[in-house]
Amino acid sequence: MTLRLLVVEDDREIRSMMQSTLAVEGFEVQTAVSLSEARALLAHRAPDVVVLDLGLPDGDGLELVQQIRKQHSLPILIVSARHQEAQKIRLLDAGADDYLTKPFAVGELLARIRVALRHRGTALEAAITTHDLEDLHIDLSSRRVLSQGEVLHLTPTEFKLLARLVRSADRVVTHRQLLTDVWGPEYTEHTHYLRLYMGQLRAKIERDPAEPRHLLTETGVGYRLAGH
Ligand code: CA
Repeated sequence: MTLRLLVVEDDREIRSMMQSTLAVEGFEVQTAVSLSEARALLAHRAPDVVVLDLGLPDGDGLELVQQIRKQHSLPILIVSARHQEAQKIRLLDAGADDYLTKPFAVGELLARIRVALRHRGTALEAAITTHDLEDLHIDLSSRRVLSQGEVLHLTPTEFKLLARLVRSADRVVTHRQLLTDVWGPEYTEHTHYLRLYMGQLRAKIERDPAEPRHLLTETGVGYRLAGH
């Protein structure tokens, strides 16, 4: 099956570079230069993936993220020259899957598209229940966590936090998302909870908690459980 990809980008050079490279990789690529053009294409037929620039002639890409999320669960990747963390968090909270800062290598874009597709695909078929990477084995259904063959004893909150990261393995989860999903929507400002529990989890899971290999910090944004 050929995957259909919509590239929304007003910079002609970047747009044609992405179009040709992604077409070579086997994607069917459509392009739009503005929000209105993107909306028209989306209304006609939803693609499998959207790659979206933020600064567009008729508005901000964030508007399109919000609009797409009301109707579709397809992966949305942001490519932008802006790199303020607040902006990045807003986009991820609005439902974007990932964020690349320009200039980026096309190989990196392809890798992120594959991860996003795998996640959306898996999420549609069955919820992720296990995670294996190197010395770490997590089985959410039996609530078992093993590190180097040893069963770890986690508190209920530690387990909940870890489970939330497993469900988005390989992707950054924002502080706000983690606080909302683990503690509840009234706790979104309590980032110290997150720091505390992440410290406890690292102490149990990581060989060297000061150099984590599994529970990775995305500075100022959130955390990411290292994937495969
Ligand atoms: Ca632009």
